Amino acid sequence: MQVLVLGAGISGCTFARLMKNEGYTVSIKEKQDHIGGLCYTKKSPNGILYEPNGGHAFHTKNDRVKKFVLSFSEFNNYKHKKGIVINDILRHFPISRKTILKMKNSKQILKELENRPKNPDLTNFETFAISKFGLTLYKLFIYNYSKKMWGLEPHKLTTEYIHNRIELTDSNTHIFQDDFQGLPINGYTKFLDNMIHGIPLELNAPEFNISSYDLILYSGRIDELFKYKFGKLQYRSLRFDYRENDNWENEDYGSINLPQHNKYIRKVNFKVMYQKKTKNSWIQYQEPISLYDHNLPMYPIYTKENIELFNKYLIEACKSDKIIPVGRLGLYKYLEMGQAIWLAINMLPLIKKWKILKPKSRYSEIKELLNK
Ligand SMILES: Cc1cc2nc3c(=O)[nH]c(=O)nc-3n(C[C@H](O)[C@H](O)[C@H](O)COP(=O)(O)OP(=O)(O)OC[C@H]3O[C@@H](n4cnc5c(N)ncnc54)[C@H](O)[C@@H]3O)c2cc1C
Repeated sequence: MQVLVLGAGISGCTFARLMKNEGYTVSIKEKQDHIGGLCYTKKSPNGILYEPNGGHAFHTKNDRVKKFVLSFSEFNNYKHKKGIVINDILRHFPISRKTILKMKNSKQILKELENRPKNPDLTNFETFAISKFGLTLYKLFIYNYSKKMWGLEPHKLTTEYIHNRIELTDSNTHIFQDDFQGLPINGYTKFLDNMIHGIPLELNAPEFNISSYDLILYSGRIDELFKYKFGKLQYRSLRFDYRENDNWENEDYGSINLPQHNKYIRKVNFKVMYQKKTKNSWIQYQEPISLYDHNLPMYPIYTKENIELFNKYLIEACKSDKIIPVGRLGLYKYLEMGQAIWLAINMLPLIKKWKILKPKSRYSEIKELLNK
């Protein structure tokens, strides 16, 4: 069976490797001039590996995912730590009781925390965050950051993104709680290159001929696949500036959130993330922007309207017995890299029986996987 994988991001490369291992004849087409998608890695002018689409720290608690990634690269054991600058003071993120006790208005914050409802209010992003953190912490740590990040008032967003993403902790913890964390020591591009070793790859190739293949795994935008016939799904994107050897407040932190900055949302220090002992550093400043034609769709914007629109496209996609949407853009889902691999592994049985299933069953099986 001839399988075409469209897109050589982490999802496309994982599917290509898994399908090849299952004995299918697989090839890949990627529309850009390089593999890697959002986690593509290159070298800075001062010799430090970095991700031009935003710093990436790998993490998973799943043993199969860990075993899979370790078969293509060694990982450094960098455990991602984040800081946040509020009123010119660097604090630890996520917010912990330890941080709160050091703050001027700690009494008020603790009172609000005590009066939180038993169950978080899932009405929207804002009600959820206030019911979990209280109004004072919400205003200081979450409101500005989220408004700038998404370009929307937080009450317009659903809880899909924030749910299970930030927790109040007792002491300062790493941002991710997963056992396995790190970056591939030679960057993600090399890691993915190893993953697709032996599989034919064509770069600068956005077009495909549907009749030449038995199955197409499509990791591009699902709305683009259908020529936007129901309307465009919204995405947020980022613009990047760089500074060499810039001042960095604390080398425990690989990235620092900047909710009160008038332009940037966060900065990333690649010397820390790639654990380089050099004097040089390469710092990336990230500015959230709307999606234009020339920049990359990065973050699905989880409003009620977008989620409904995606569902319409997914129902449409499930009618095809040849093209299967996968990955972050195909499934309009904020997948972290470990989740993208987990989803590929767990979607494999569905892909193998796709052709014999009815559209309704395809749809419900995908939805079930996406909700796990
Ligand atoms: C700023 C930022 C920071 C992140 N940080 C982290 C992090 O620290 N840790 C973490 O785990 N995850 C992180 N992520 C998430 C991570 O980037 C995703 O999990 C991952 O990129 C998903 O891979 P993908 O292959 O599904 O999608 P993508 O990386 O978007 O890849 C899709 C690929 O398909 C190609 N394509 C699209 N349409 C076509 C077409 N028609 N024909 C051919 N090719 C096509 C694209 O060019 C692209 O190469 C971050 C994301 C962003 C935006």
